[in-house]
Amino acid sequence: MSLLIKQVLLEDQITDILIEGKYIKRIAPHIDPPEGAEILSGRDKAAIPGFINTHTHAAMTLFRGYGDDLPLMEWLQDYIWPVEAKMTEHDVYVGAKLACLEMLRSGTTCFLDMYMYPMETARAVEELGLRAHLSYTLFDQGGAERAALDRKRSYEYYEAFKGLSDRVTFTLGPHAIYTVSGEQLQFCHRFAVEHDVKINLHLAETKGEVDDCIRLHGTTPVRYLHQLGILSPHLVIAHVVWVDDEEMDLLAEHGVSVVHNPASNMKLCSGYTFKYEEMKRRGIKLGIGTDGCSSSNNLDMVIAMKLASLLGKAWRFSPTATKAADIYHSATVGGAEILGLKAGKIAEGMLADLSLVDLNVPELVPLNNLTSNLVYATSGSSCVDTVIIDGVIRMRHRHVPGQEQIIAEAREVADRLFGRK
Ligand SMILES: [Zn+2]
Repeated sequence: MSLLIKQVLLEDQITDILIEGKYIKRIAPHIDPPEGAEILSGRDKAAIPGFINTHTHAAMTLFRGYGDDLPLMEWLQDYIWPVEAKMTEHDVYVGAKLACLEMLRSGTTCFLDMYMYPMETARAVEELGLRAHLSYTLFDQGGAERAALDRKRSYEYYEAFKGLSDRVTFTLGPHAIYTVSGEQLQFCHRFAVEHDVKINLHLAETKGEVDDCIRLHGTTPVRYLHQLGILSPHLVIAHVVWVDDEEMDLLAEHGVSVVHNPASNMKLCSGYTFKYEEMKRRGIKLGIGTDGCSSSNNLDMVIAMKLASLLGKAWRFSPTATKAADIYHSATVGGAEILGLKAGKIAEGMLADLSLVDLNVPELVPLNNLTSNLVYATSGSSCVDTVIIDGVIRMRHRHVPGQEQIIAEAREVADRLFGRK
């Protein structure tokens, strides 16, 4: 199956892009259509790489707008946890489908997730055609029974994911250092090395986490992981707001990747001094995440890019910090590097994971600088017209097959979970 995009804007050139199977085969000013190829007009469109959301909790779309503007512990204990306890596998599937729909409609082609029932999220991903790295959440809180169950399930999910398409990859998801024991984190490390999978962990998110870590383990979160011997290129850590120079040196030295979640950090008041420049200078792989919809309220990576860039400038009092091009790089190439994907840019030989952006939306006019317009002016949900993943059109002119049903089912599940029915 081949797909030929005719006369589309790619960076600053009008060009043709030929996709064969799942890869970008050729990019040239004029390509004759191969026999049987589908032709897609690129008129008034720009081709951009699909965004890679390197930290989210897809099924939490169902919590959007529920329990906003509350202190963290009150929000978790009185709102989120009681409802999560009622969630079924089907609810996770429905919530993940809503998330996939929202991601497609805002130009995200791949995401790194952490949640319960990852097979259900996988099913949603398979059906909507995205690419995803999905973590099973390990959450033992020091309990030996749950820890043993989590280890058993990690093996079971790892095996079960082998039956899925190559768009879906299993990762380990120890929740955080305050909910998972050190021994369990070391288990994750051994598992990741043995099976060559990623470990997805929240780390150094709040000042309270750092203080507790010092109290319990006598040192700060990154140093604690170093002592456990689990800093490695397998590890992807989200938030990382509270780190010092020496800790960033350790992360760089051990090839650990870091994901910035500006909306969540601001909304939950976790901290705002994410050290993008310091980490970039050290060569740490940096991604951008939205986090889940209970703490960022949407999954739009374009909005996340704007927040990341503005926040970085604001706390440093420096308009030259966190430049649009750098943040755009993290949301595309950076994410692909973290997940080890041949994606993140549109070039021959790369995976055909890309979007066509409608250049006629007002916020993209005039086109003095596409990257600037994308990061600062628009939102993904208003400008992304067509999305191609793995060489297949998954959204065409803003329509995703089955979208009406996905929305209706999500409403129904949310009504039940929140006692409206
Ligand atoms: Zn998170």
